[in-house]
Amino acid sequence: PPDVERLGRSTWTFLHTTAAYFPERPSPGQRANMLLLLHALPTLYPCGHCAEHLGREMERRPPDVRNRVALSRWLCETHNEVNERLGKERFDCSIRSLDERWKDGPSD
Ligand code: FAD
Repeated sequence: PPDVERLGRSTWTFLHTTAAYFPERPSPGQRANMLLLLHALPTLYPCGHCAEHLGREMERRPPDVRNRVALSRWLCETHNEVNERLGKERFDCSIRSLDERWKDGPSD
């Protein structure tokens, strides 16, 4: 079975980075593909109990793919739900903090 921690770090890196570079004004096709990508995870993610939790969380709070900022925040809150469950710290979901971590790097 995969190393759930390493898989998790890599997957969050991919998802947060992809959200950080999602268009400010996505086309209908870009929105639809992002929804397909996210909705595939609860069936394909190779950590069964993680996938199950994510599926339930996505039913409770459906992905917001309207634009880059909405998607980045939604993903941050979804990751925070996992953090909380695992006893990890919550991340500040302001777009400033998210961009600093996943897009621009620290300003100084
Ligand atoms: P990670 O949580 O992997 O975070 C990586 C980096 O992301 C952090 O160092 C920080 O810089 C940044 N970050 C942290 N929080 C946020 C946030 N809210 N928004 C933006 N950036 C942030 N593990 C389990 O044991 N049980 C589970 O049920 C489980 N479910 C998961 C579901 C999904 C969809 C994914 C992708 C992973 C899941 N994991 C689960 C793995 C878990 O979330 C962590 O990835 C793993 O424990 C390693 O944690 P970490 O402390 O290295 O940092």
